[in-house]
Amino acid sequence: MEPLATENERPACTRHFARRFAAGMRAAFGFALDAALPPLCPACREPVADQGGLCGNCWSRLSFIARPYCERLGIPFVYDPGPGILSMEAIADPPAYNRARAAVRYDDVARTLVQAFKYGDRIDLAPRMGRWMAQAGAEILRDADMLVPVPLHWRRQWARRFNQSAALCQIISAASGVTVSHDILKRVRATRQQVGLNQSERDANVQGAFAVPPESKTAVRGKRLVLVDDVLTSGATVDNCARVLLRAGALSVDVLVFARVVQGGRTPI
Ligand SMILES: [Zn+2]
Repeated sequence: MEPLATENERPACTRHFARRFAAGMRAAFGFALDAALPPLCPACREPVADQGGLCGNCWSRLSFIARPYCERLGIPFVYDPGPGILSMEAIADPPAYNRARAAVRYDDVARTLVQAFKYGDRIDLAPRMGRWMAQAGAEILRDADMLVPVPLHWRRQWARRFNQSAALCQIISAASGVTVSHDILKRVRATRQQVGLNQSERDANVQGAFAVPPESKTAVRGKRLVLVDDVLTSGATVDNCARVLLRAGALSVDVLVFARVVQGGRTPI
């Protein structure tokens, strides 16, 4: 027979029960709340049918990028110049990466989605964003050996609690079958936020920020890599990452982002 609890043990026992009871109630109550409240559109906060889904209005305002676009930079053209034509930018100032693809234009709705995802703890947006990216990047994913998330500095990742590029990589990997490597590219120096910097300041800001650790060099050699990030603005970050990976022996580097900045439409040369 179990000995009875002594006077000293009883309060601890009671406290333990009370804690478990409270945790159970919270779980039950939280669940009930989640079930009672409809999910909200992440862009405008209107109620929607499914979690992580956009309302009809925001959906119609999201601009998906489709051909015709520059085969190199993925920037949409205003008219179709025929297959394989590159934009003026791709010829005048070719990036270190081979091809870039984006799911949507970085406009109001896309910006709100990205900000909710990145800073608003809306990790539930990753599956949808990732699947759109897998579709936009189907061509480059077919040739790819590995997905490489653009790494955050550990301090920023700690503050944000997750790396949004790595979260997108997981979904893209599940959709495409291409594996993710978290070890071959590291951020060795913290950088300022790129927001508010011009092109040359952006280039200087990311200079020397990324590196392939010596122990990962063999994993990079001869591989066709796809760098994954949430937004492509000036391209300074992915260009620097691509340079570092190519220097370490990668065969090619392509870029896949959720949204890219597009200034107007591009006229092919
Ligand atoms: Zn909406």
